[in-house]
Parts: sequence; structure tokens; C-alpha cells
Amino acid sequence: MNIYSDERLINLGIISGTVGRDFGSARDTKIAHKIFESLGIPPSKILGLKQVHGDKIICINSAKDLEDYQAKEIHEADGWLLSLPQTGVMILTADCVPLYLWSADGKYVSLTHCGWRGVVQELPKKAAEMIKTKTTEKLQAYIGPHIKDCCFEVKEDVASKFPKEVVIQRENKIFVDLDKAIILQLTAAGVDAKEIQTGCHCQCTCCNKKDFFSYRRDGTKDALLSFIYKV
Ligand SMILES: [Zn+2]
Repeated sequence: MNIYSDERLINLGIISGTVGRDFGSARDTKIAHKIFESLGIPPSKILGLKQVHGDKIICINSAKDLEDYQAKEIHEADGWLLSLPQTGVMILTADCVPLYLWSADGKYVSLTHCGWRGVVQELPKKAAEMIKTKTTEKLQAYIGPHIKDCCFEVKEDVASKFPKEVVIQRENKIFVDLDKAIILQLTAAGVDAKEIQTGCHCQCTCCNKKDFFSYRRDGTKDALLSFIYKV
């Protein structure tokens, strides 16, 4: 199983990453469960949400937060802030960005589903600011596999919602660099640029058909699993 993850998180003992397509589409709950079981994580400990391309983040920082979560059936949100041990969170993506953000001591970990709409709504910045209300530790980030500026062509209406420095004109087409847009937001929220890791163009979900699902390329609902589990 190919898992794209950040060594710094793994070194903190936090099992996490974005799972490549070789296991199948994690949109299928049975496949998602198989992935967790193969990693020795009880699937029942993993919390899910209903992604709506918004900017809401669910906090699971106490047993009470977990109870409140479990009392509700549907959770419309696009991100997590987690500190409760023996608990995990997941999101699904197929071109959107799985953004991992954490305090350097590993106590607070955030995972957000940042499509272009989420980025425009400043979800990355909000996640960073939310962790900063909890801790004075420095923040670290990993921008997981997603559609990169080689393939993320947009129309003028979408491009106009982004800062000029992340919009690229190429051969009469317009592209948006989501990595750069996220880095701008995180640094504006006080994250040091050198603490932000992002994958190479081989981690573009749209170009790399062998390893990733891509909505833009295939138009299907197949999705990649991204998760964080706090041991
Ligand atoms: Zn590409």
C-alpha cells in the first residue's frame, strides 16, 4: 500500500497519510475499513464527516467532544482538529488538497479537505488559527497529493477569486497553483514557510493515473483516503 505522509508526523507517533489508489476507492466504506485494519487501526475509532466544500472544522479535543459528535448522525464539515488519543479522523479527496497541520509537539493535529472553494474560504488559514488558540508550539504542515498547477485549469470566474500571485497564464489558458495559495495563507497565519512540506509534481492526482484517483481526469466518484490516528 502506498501511503503519502510526512515523516515529521510519523516521528511524533501519529499514524497518518493519504493512501494511493492501489487499495481501491475509499468512497466504499468496506475498502476504507480494510485499509485501517491493515494498518492495525480499529475502524470504529475513525470519525468521518460529510464534506460540503465549506470552512467548518470539527474539534475533537475531549471525551465530551467525542460524545457530542457521536450524538449526531450527519456532520457537515471539511476539517478536523484532533487532540484526543486513540481517536482518528478521515477525509476523502480526488484532486482536492488533504492538508495536514499540527503543533510541533504532536498534541494538536488538523486534517482539512481543501478544494478550491475551501481555499477561497480560507480554510487553511482558519485551521492554523484554530490550533494557535490552543497552543504556543510552532506549527508544521504537509500538503498532500492533489491536482497541481500543471493540470488545475480554471475559468476566469474561479481565477478571479484567488490572489494574483497564484494564478498562472499558459498557452491562453489559466491555471491556479493551490500549493502556493495554501502556503500564502499558512504563512499569513504565522506558520514558518520552511515548516511547510509539499509533494513534487509526481504527486499531482490528475497527471499520475497510476497512483491516484482524479475527478478532473476521470469524472468518477472514486476517492483517496486521508487520515490521522492519534495512538
Ligand atoms: Zn498534473
